[in-house]
Amino acid sequence: MRKKLVVGNWKMHGSRASNALLLSGLKEAGPWTADVAVCVPFPYITETALALTGTQIAYGSQDCSAHEQGAYTGEVSSAMLADVGCRYAIVGHSERRAYHQESDQLVADKAKAALAHGITPIVCVGETLAEREAGQTEHVVKRQLAAVIHTLTHCIGEIVLAYEPVWAIGTGLTATPEQAQAVHAVLRQQLRAATQKADAMRILYGGSVKADNAAQLFAQADIDGGLIGGAALKAADFSAICRAA
Ligand code: PGA
Repeated sequence: MRKKLVVGNWKMHGSRASNALLLSGLKEAGPWTADVAVCVPFPYITETALALTGTQIAYGSQDCSAHEQGAYTGEVSSAMLADVGCRYAIVGHSERRAYHQESDQLVADKAKAALAHGITPIVCVGETLAEREAGQTEHVVKRQLAAVIHTLTHCIGEIVLAYEPVWAIGTGLTATPEQAQAVHAVLRQQLRAATQKADAMRILYGGSVKADNAAQLFAQADIDGGLIGGAALKAADFSAICRAA
């Protein structure tokens, strides 16, 4: 049995004051049977770490550099993230692929850098609306995952995968449980061809997950939790999703 994982992706939201409120609300709402984590903006990682000491809630970043160290102005290395106790790093979120031109290979290199420092990369894949309408969904997500499999080789079993259809992110349009499950099954099959650990790996769904649709999504055979954006910004909403997992 795979243990469910629910991850909050705060994106570029929050302040020291609002984070403190959100985290104390979560501490009061837990514990949950699922694993729970929050991926917060870089400046707030250390304060988040302090606030979450002694709780079941893990924390991580929303990106990491593919480079080890050096003259890379503005980049944050996995060694630094490990140094401040990050358990997870989201890599390849569609917003980074779209707004920062991140290629499949760069995403794979970031995943590799994270793993090298003991951080679990949460690798995001997903198709745009145009790609779905053109019947390209499987082709796109398999291409995105193939780059990661090729780069990580025998370590592929250590990642968390997240299927996030771009058309469902922040739009209120959720993939139906059946639509999501169909893609998750394709991804699981691709992982099975690459690693014996495929059936133990967690594949999260992300894209307008809310308290009222989470349980149905998480009940699907290959959906092992969620990557939550908007609904991760309110303690009551996020904890209800954690409860549904
Ligand atoms: P959303 O975002 O839940 O606001 O759709 C999910 C994500 O982008 O990870």
